Amino acid sequence: MTDTAIELIGLKKRFGGIFAVNDLNIKIRSGTITSIIGPNGAGKTTVFNLISGFIKPTTGSILFSEQNITQKEVHDIARMGVARTFQQVQIFPEMSVLENVMVGRHVRSKSGFLLSCIVPPQFRKQEAFIKTSAEKWLSFVGLNSMADHPAGTLPLGNQRILEISRALAMEPQVILLDEPASGLNARETLALGELIERIKMSNITVMLVEHDMELVMEISDRVIVINFGQVIADGSPAEVQMNPEVIKAYLGE
Ligand code: ATP
Repeated sequence: MTDTAIELIGLKKRFGGIFAVNDLNIKIRSGTITSIIGPNGAGKTTVFNLISGFIKPTTGSILFSEQNITQKEVHDIARMGVARTFQQVQIFPEMSVLENVMVGRHVRSKSGFLLSCIVPPQFRKQEAFIKTSAEKWLSFVGLNSMADHPAGTLPLGNQRILEISRALAMEPQVILLDEPASGLNARETLALGELIERIKMSNITVMLVEHDMELVMEISDRVIVINFGQVIADGSPAEVQMNPEVIKAYLGE
Protein backbone atom coordinates (compact mmCIF):
# COMPACT_ATOMS: atom_id res chain seq x y z
CA MET A 1 0.00 0.00 0.00
CA THR A 2 1.30 3.42 -0.92
CA ASP A 3 1.27 6.42 1.46
CA THR A 4 -1.76 7.80 -0.32
CA ALA A 5 -4.68 5.36 -0.43
CA ILE A 6 -7.11 7.50 -2.43
CA GLU A 7 -6.47 10.66 -4.39
CA LEU A 8 -9.16 12.86 -5.94
CA ILE A 9 -7.88 15.22 -8.60
CA GLY A 10 -10.06 18.07 -9.89
CA LEU A 11 -13.09 15.87 -9.32
CA LYS A 12 -16.43 17.23 -10.50
CA LYS A 13 -19.86 15.65 -10.88
CA ARG A 14 -22.74 17.55 -12.40
CA PHE A 15 -26.38 16.49 -12.14
CA GLY A 16 -28.39 18.69 -14.51
CA GLY A 17 -27.75 22.25 -13.44
CA ILE A 18 -25.91 21.56 -10.17
CA PHE A 19 -22.42 20.42 -9.35
CA ALA A 20 -22.88 17.85 -6.55
CA VAL A 21 -19.09 17.58 -6.42
CA ASN A 22 -17.25 20.66 -7.52
CA ASP A 23 -13.48 20.45 -7.98
CA LEU A 24 -12.33 18.24 -5.12
CA ASN A 25 -8.59 17.78 -4.67
CA ILE A 26 -8.05 15.44 -1.75
CA LYS A 27 -5.36 12.95 -0.75
CA ILE A 28 -6.34 10.32 1.82
CA ARG A 29 -3.42 8.91 3.79
CA SER A 30 -3.22 5.13 4.11
CA GLY A 31 -4.03 3.66 7.49
CA THR A 32 -6.11 6.58 8.72
CA ILE A 33 -9.74 7.33 9.48
CA THR A 34 -10.96 10.30 7.43
CA SER A 35 -14.49 11.59 7.86
CA ILE A 36 -16.34 13.60 5.27
CA ILE A 37 -19.03 15.72 6.85
CA GLY A 38 -21.33 18.49 5.68
CA PRO A 39 -25.00 19.50 5.47
CA ASN A 40 -27.63 17.39 3.69
CA GLY A 41 -27.04 17.48 -0.05
CA ALA A 42 -23.42 18.66 0.34
CA GLY A 43 -22.19 15.90 -1.97
CA LYS A 44 -20.81 13.35 0.51
CA THR A 45 -22.50 10.25 -0.86
CA THR A 46 -21.75 11.39 -4.39
CA VAL A 47 -18.04 11.32 -3.47
CA PHE A 48 -18.41 7.69 -2.30
CA ASN A 49 -20.40 6.79 -5.43
CA LEU A 50 -17.60 8.23 -7.56
CA ILE A 51 -14.78 6.46 -5.70
CA SER A 52 -16.56 3.10 -5.80
CA GLY A 53 -17.41 3.46 -9.50
CA PHE A 54 -21.22 3.59 -9.22
CA ILE A 55 -21.17 6.85 -11.14
CA LYS A 56 -18.52 8.44 -13.37
CA PRO A 57 -17.22 11.96 -12.85
CA THR A 58 -18.01 14.80 -15.22
CA THR A 59 -14.30 15.68 -15.10
CA GLY A 60 -11.33 14.83 -12.92
CA SER A 61 -9.58 11.65 -11.80
CA ILE A 62 -9.60 9.17 -8.95
CA LEU A 63 -6.48 7.24 -7.97
CA PHE A 64 -6.42 4.23 -5.70
CA SER A 65 -2.94 3.37 -4.46
CA GLU A 66 -1.58 5.44 -7.39
CA GLN A 67 -3.62 3.50 -9.96
CA ASN A 68 -6.13 5.41 -12.03
CA ILE A 69 -9.56 3.88 -11.34
CA THR A 70 -11.66 6.73 -12.77
CA GLN A 71 -13.22 4.70 -15.57
CA LYS A 72 -13.14 1.28 -13.92
CA GLU A 73 -16.30 -0.71 -13.24
CA VAL A 74 -17.76 -1.21 -9.76
CA HIS A 75 -16.71 -4.87 -9.48
CA ASP A 76 -13.17 -4.14 -10.69
CA ILE A 77 -12.75 -1.40 -8.09
CA ALA A 78 -14.11 -3.72 -5.40
CA ARG A 79 -11.75 -6.50 -6.50
CA MET A 80 -8.80 -4.10 -6.48
CA GLY A 81 -9.47 -3.37 -2.81
CA VAL A 82 -12.05 -0.63 -2.28
CA ALA A 83 -15.12 -1.88 -0.37
CA ARG A 84 -18.14 0.10 0.77
CA THR A 85 -21.36 0.04 2.73
CA PHE A 86 -24.54 1.95 1.98
CA GLN A 87 -26.81 4.46 3.74
CA GLN A 88 -29.69 2.01 3.30
CA VAL A 89 -28.56 -1.38 4.57
CA GLN A 90 -28.23 -3.83 1.68
CA ILE A 91 -28.35 -7.39 2.91
CA PHE A 92 -30.01 -10.57 1.67
CA PRO A 93 -32.65 -10.98 4.42
CA GLU A 94 -33.52 -14.64 3.65
CA MET A 95 -29.90 -15.79 3.63
CA SER A 96 -28.03 -16.56 6.83
CA VAL A 97 -25.67 -14.06 8.39
CA LEU A 98 -22.70 -16.24 7.38
CA GLU A 99 -23.92 -16.58 3.78
CA ASN A 100 -24.27 -12.81 3.55
CA VAL A 101 -20.61 -12.43 4.48
CA MET A 102 -19.57 -15.21 2.10
CA VAL A 103 -21.12 -13.24 -0.77
CA GLY A 104 -18.61 -10.49 -0.01
CA ARG A 105 -15.72 -12.94 0.02
CA HIS A 106 -16.78 -14.33 -3.37
CA VAL A 107 -16.02 -10.97 -4.94
CA ARG A 108 -12.37 -11.78 -4.32
CA SER A 109 -12.50 -15.40 -5.46
CA LYS A 110 -11.82 -16.59 -9.00
CA SER A 111 -15.04 -18.60 -9.25
CA GLY A 112 -17.58 -15.97 -8.27
CA PHE A 113 -20.69 -16.72 -6.26
CA LEU A 114 -22.98 -18.19 -8.95
CA LEU A 115 -20.36 -20.51 -10.42
CA SER A 116 -19.57 -21.90 -7.00
CA CYS A 117 -23.28 -22.64 -6.51
CA ILE A 118 -23.70 -24.61 -9.73
CA VAL A 119 -20.32 -26.38 -9.99
CA PRO A 120 -19.62 -27.44 -6.43
CA PRO A 121 -16.98 -30.24 -6.73
CA GLN A 122 -14.18 -28.22 -8.32
CA PHE A 123 -14.77 -25.34 -5.99
CA ARG A 124 -15.37 -27.16 -2.74
CA LYS A 125 -11.88 -26.41 -1.44
CA GLN A 126 -12.22 -22.78 -2.33
CA GLU A 127 -15.70 -22.75 -0.78
CA ALA A 128 -14.27 -24.04 2.50
CA PHE A 129 -11.63 -21.32 2.38
CA ILE A 130 -14.27 -18.66 1.76
CA LYS A 131 -16.36 -19.97 4.67
CA THR A 132 -13.36 -19.83 7.01
CA SER A 133 -12.58 -16.31 5.88
CA ALA A 134 -16.21 -15.22 6.35
CA GLU A 135 -16.23 -16.76 9.84
CA LYS A 136 -13.03 -14.87 10.66
CA TRP A 137 -14.65 -11.54 9.78
CA LEU A 138 -17.87 -12.40 11.59
CA SER A 139 -15.79 -13.02 14.71
CA PHE A 140 -13.91 -9.79 14.11
CA VAL A 141 -17.15 -7.79 14.22
CA GLY A 142 -18.62 -9.91 17.02
CA LEU A 143 -21.50 -11.52 15.12
CA ASN A 144 -20.20 -15.10 15.08
CA SER A 145 -22.85 -16.33 17.51
CA MET A 146 -25.52 -15.28 14.99
CA ALA A 147 -23.91 -16.92 11.94
CA ASP A 148 -26.89 -19.23 11.27
CA HIS A 149 -29.65 -16.66 11.83
CA PRO A 150 -31.50 -15.31 8.79
CA ALA A 151 -29.95 -11.88 8.24
CA GLY A 152 -33.36 -10.18 8.05
CA THR A 153 -34.13 -11.13 11.66
CA LEU A 154 -31.20 -9.13 13.06
CA PRO A 155 -31.90 -5.73 14.62
CA LEU A 156 -30.87 -2.78 12.44
CA GLY A 157 -27.67 -2.17 14.44
CA ASN A 158 -26.47 -5.69 13.77
CA GLN A 159 -27.52 -5.52 10.13
CA ARG A 160 -25.23 -2.53 9.73
CA ILE A 161 -22.39 -4.43 11.41
CA LEU A 162 -23.12 -7.40 9.13
CA GLU A 163 -22.82 -5.15 6.10
CA ILE A 164 -19.46 -3.93 7.39
CA SER A 165 -18.24 -7.51 7.91
CA ARG A 166 -19.30 -8.39 4.35
CA ALA A 167 -17.26 -5.45 3.06
CA LEU A 168 -14.31 -6.56 5.22
CA ALA A 169 -14.58 -10.09 3.81
CA MET A 170 -13.54 -8.61 0.48
CA GLU A 171 -10.15 -8.07 2.19
CA PRO A 172 -10.12 -4.41 1.14
CA GLN A 173 -7.34 -1.88 1.56
CA VAL A 174 -9.90 0.91 1.76
CA ILE A 175 -13.41 0.80 3.20
CA LEU A 176 -16.02 3.50 2.62
CA LEU A 177 -18.67 3.62 5.35
CA ASP A 178 -21.77 5.64 4.44
CA GLU A 179 -23.62 6.76 7.59
CA PRO A 180 -22.98 3.54 9.53
CA ALA A 181 -24.39 5.02 12.78
CA SER A 182 -27.71 5.98 11.21
CA GLY A 183 -30.54 4.45 13.27
CA LEU A 184 -28.20 3.08 15.96
CA ASN A 185 -28.71 3.76 19.67
CA ALA A 186 -25.96 5.22 21.89
CA ARG A 187 -24.61 1.84 22.99
CA GLU A 188 -24.51 0.50 19.42
CA THR A 189 -22.82 3.69 18.22
CA LEU A 190 -20.13 3.34 20.86
CA ALA A 191 -19.49 -0.25 19.77
CA LEU A 192 -19.42 0.88 16.15
CA GLY A 193 -16.75 3.47 16.97
CA GLU A 194 -14.60 0.82 18.60
CA LEU A 195 -15.06 -1.47 15.60
CA ILE A 196 -14.03 1.27 13.17
CA GLU A 197 -10.88 1.90 15.22
CA ARG A 198 -10.07 -1.83 15.10
CA ILE A 199 -10.55 -1.79 11.32
CA LYS A 200 -7.97 0.99 11.12
CA MET A 201 -5.61 -1.02 13.35
CA SER A 202 -5.95 -3.87 10.84
CA ASN A 203 -4.27 -1.57 8.33
CA ILE A 204 -7.41 -0.77 6.41
CA THR A 205 -7.91 2.85 5.43
CA VAL A 206 -11.33 4.10 6.52
CA MET A 207 -13.38 6.83 4.89
CA LEU A 208 -16.49 7.73 6.80
CA VAL A 209 -19.55 9.78 5.87
CA GLU A 210 -21.45 10.37 9.08
CA HIS A 211 -23.85 12.82 10.73
CA ASP A 212 -23.15 11.67 14.30
CA MET A 213 -20.65 14.38 15.24
CA GLU A 214 -19.70 12.81 18.55
CA LEU A 215 -18.61 9.65 16.75
CA VAL A 216 -16.83 11.58 13.99
CA MET A 217 -14.88 13.78 16.41
CA GLU A 218 -14.00 10.83 18.63
CA ILE A 219 -12.49 8.47 16.05
CA SER A 220 -11.32 10.54 13.07
CA ASP A 221 -7.70 11.40 12.34
CA ARG A 222 -8.90 13.98 9.87
CA VAL A 223 -12.21 15.65 9.11
CA ILE A 224 -13.02 17.14 5.73
CA VAL A 225 -16.04 19.42 5.64
CA ILE A 226 -17.78 19.92 2.32
CA ASN A 227 -20.62 22.17 1.30
CA PHE A 228 -22.04 22.54 -2.22
CA GLY A 229 -19.51 19.95 -3.37
CA GLN A 230 -16.49 21.96 -2.23
CA VAL A 231 -14.12 21.65 0.73
CA ILE A 232 -14.78 24.38 3.27
CA ALA A 233 -12.50 22.99 6.01
CA ASP A 234 -9.96 20.22 6.39
CA GLY A 235 -8.01 19.30 9.50
CA SER A 236 -8.02 17.49 12.81
CA PRO A 237 -11.36 17.15 14.65
CA ALA A 238 -10.28 19.96 17.01
CA GLU A 239 -9.36 22.25 14.12
CA VAL A 240 -12.59 21.86 12.19
CA GLN A 241 -14.74 22.22 15.31
CA MET A 242 -13.26 25.68 15.87
CA ASN A 243 -13.53 26.77 12.23
CA PRO A 244 -16.05 29.66 12.05
CA GLU A 245 -17.17 28.74 8.52
CA VAL A 246 -17.92 25.17 9.60
CA ILE A 247 -19.85 26.33 12.63
CA LYS A 248 -21.89 28.65 10.42
CA ALA A 249 -22.55 26.13 7.63
CA TYR A 250 -22.98 22.98 9.61
CA LEU A 251 -22.18 22.51 13.25
CA GLY A 252 -24.11 25.47 14.64
CA GLU A 253 -23.49 26.74 18.14
P1 ATP B 1 -27.07 13.57 2.78
O1 ATP B 1 -26.27 13.97 3.97
O2 ATP B 1 -28.48 14.10 2.83
O3 ATP B 1 -27.00 12.10 2.47
P2 ATP B 1 -25.06 14.17 0.74
O4 ATP B 1 -24.06 15.16 1.24
O5 ATP B 1 -24.65 12.74 0.75
O6 ATP B 1 -26.44 14.35 1.51
P3 ATP B 1 -25.51 13.76 -2.05
O7 ATP B 1 -26.46 12.63 -1.87
O8 ATP B 1 -24.15 13.46 -2.51
O9 ATP B 1 -25.45 14.62 -0.72
O10 ATP B 1 -26.20 14.78 -3.05
C1 ATP B 1 -25.55 15.98 -3.48
C2 ATP B 1 -26.46 16.71 -4.45
O11 ATP B 1 -26.55 15.96 -5.67
C3 ATP B 1 -27.89 16.87 -3.97
O12 ATP B 1 -28.36 18.13 -4.42
C4 ATP B 1 -28.62 15.75 -4.64
O13 ATP B 1 -29.98 16.06 -4.83
C5 ATP B 1 -27.87 15.64 -5.96
N1 ATP B 1 -27.87 14.26 -6.49
C6 ATP B 1 -27.27 13.20 -5.94
N2 ATP B 1 -27.43 12.11 -6.70
C7 ATP B 1 -28.16 12.51 -7.77
C8 ATP B 1 -28.67 11.86 -8.95
N3 ATP B 1 -28.44 10.57 -9.17
N4 ATP B 1 -29.38 12.60 -9.84
C9 ATP B 1 -29.60 13.91 -9.62
N5 ATP B 1 -29.15 14.60 -8.56
C10 ATP B 1 -28.45 13.90 -7.64
